Amino acid sequence: MTNTQSQSANSAPQAKKGIMDISIYMPGKSAAPAGIKLHKLSSNETPLGPSPKALKAIQEASEHLELYPDGQSDALKKAIGEVYGLNTDNLICGNGSDELLSMIGAAYLETDDEVIFTEHGFLMYKIVALTSGAVPVVVKETNEHADVDAILAAVTPRTRIIFLANPNNPTGTYIPMDEVRRLHAGLPTNVVLVLDAAYAEYVRRNDYEAGVELVASSQNVIMTRTFSKIHGLAALRIGWAYAPRSMIEILERVRGPFNVNALAIAAGAAAIRDRNHIDKAVLHNEKSILHVTAELEKRGLRVTPSVGNFLLVHFPETTGKSAAEADAYLTSKGILLRAVTGYGFPNALRMTLGTDETNAFVISTLSEFLA
Ligand SMILES: *Cc1c(COP(=O)(O)O)cnc(C)c1O
Repeated sequence: MTNTQSQSANSAPQAKKGIMDISIYMPGKSAAPAGIKLHKLSSNETPLGPSPKALKAIQEASEHLELYPDGQSDALKKAIGEVYGLNTDNLICGNGSDELLSMIGAAYLETDDEVIFTEHGFLMYKIVALTSGAVPVVVKETNEHADVDAILAAVTPRTRIIFLANPNNPTGTYIPMDEVRRLHAGLPTNVVLVLDAAYAEYVRRNDYEAGVELVASSQNVIMTRTFSKIHGLAALRIGWAYAPRSMIEILERVRGPFNVNALAIAAGAAAIRDRNHIDKAVLHNEKSILHVTAELEKRGLRVTPSVGNFLLVHFPETTGKSAAEADAYLTSKGILLRAVTGYGFPNALRMTLGTDETNAFVISTLSEFLA
């Protein structure tokens, strides 16, 4: 045996290229100090909870846990197709939209391919790129908005995927559909454009679209959606994507055979049909964005203008008033926001909009902190 062979025989298996460059995803905090009421505003979960119809569907589905789920998630795709007027042949469901993002990486990326996303883009994009040994290419934003010219300028012959969260997390900003179309028009047709529309339902802007029409008229655009935010089903892990048939046929090859569980299929189908519950959530959010933004600004905090169900709140550089210190103070009162240093905002916190009572409590607690 040569020396090299004996060394490798004695050492633990090494990860493939790129894996050790991944920073492990840290979810928002979820525990308050002992004995204090918890206000979890760290993961953009809805304060309204899921539709009662979804809960009923889960109960019914739970009577047959011995059976494998429908591997095609047909009931869920049927409901999505009906609600959005989409052909189910162009839909694919995932164990959360995170899984769909991973599937896109698994299906399209080869070692040293390039994956473009923006500087404050969702953290999963970098993880997806590195998992496939691809090279993350981070592009500057302009005023915390995706910059189409900067993205187009970063495209090279090695570019395979562009991930665009619209609206983006953690900024809450969006770019108008005209800009998304201009981005698409400037791309080589072999580049996959992923429109991650996790917060689409919340957006109330005439120039915003999640991307359905662009998907329908292209060969290289995929829109991903989630049940984790407005539908209040984060615990069940349900996502879906709408894509040209040619892309669906590729993604189906890397999808796990039973990737969406039976409770998720049943709950998702019921939730997406509950227009009343969705409307309530949208209305509550619309009021909360305006109110909480105004109240925080009155107290001297800069808030990035958001169209999502969360706010990016920037803190003063003054010692004693920083985001980290605010985070510690809020946590001591049971309020959990999201530190966003990993997103390139060392002096900001992301706040999910809660119930009116919780929002008022955050505002008064921040007033105490800033006094
Ligand atoms: C929350 C979120 C998702 C959704 O993830 P799931 O895996 O469906 O829970 C996707 N993209 C962005 C930008 C998000 O903020």
